[in-house]
Amino acid sequence: MVSSIRRRLLVAAAALPALPAFAQSRSLTCGDLTEAQTEGPFFKTKTPLRASLVEASSKAPGLIVAGQVLSQSCKPVAHVLLDFWHADEDGEYDNRGFRYRGHQFTDAEGRYRLVTNVPAEYPGRARHIHVKVQAPGQRVLTTQLYFPGEAGNRRDGLYRRDLEMRITSGARSEGTFDFVVEV
Ligand code: FE
Repeated sequence: MVSSIRRRLLVAAAALPALPAFAQSRSLTCGDLTEAQTEGPFFKTKTPLRASLVEASSKAPGLIVAGQVLSQSCKPVAHVLLDFWHADEDGEYDNRGFRYRGHQFTDAEGRYRLVTNVPAEYPGRARHIHVKVQAPGQRVLTTQLYFPGEAGNRRDGLYRRDLEMRITSGARSEGTFDFVVEV
């Protein structure tokens, strides 16, 4: 962990003079590929194309997750498929229909934006969001995103700090996460 951070810092420091100001803040977030995780038992194909998974009847608070898909050299990747799925406010997955399931594509700047409701924890798992990420013509990256500061994180063997979203506003209401993929 420490050596990996040190390596990234060294890479970032070496790259700084050539990078414009906005890229400097990105230099620690790209470089290492986003780690893959198991898809688990609840993935479904043929999800609807939609950026909002919000269920009007849900009592769970709203959540926006936004970010970019970047190459290892920190270049935004356009038209990347992101297929999200997660549990509802009771910790259940919809295995009949497509509640809390949907896919979208990154824009020309590699950006995505998911609007949804905060998923509940379910037995054995920290709070998480599943996602498959596929850059055009590339292999699928299957992974999961986690929420910082959750007691359940320490109890979940799958949890990885590198896969935590950065919560930027309120309690779990807005998060950011940048994916780094092979292109
Ligand atoms: Fe899950």
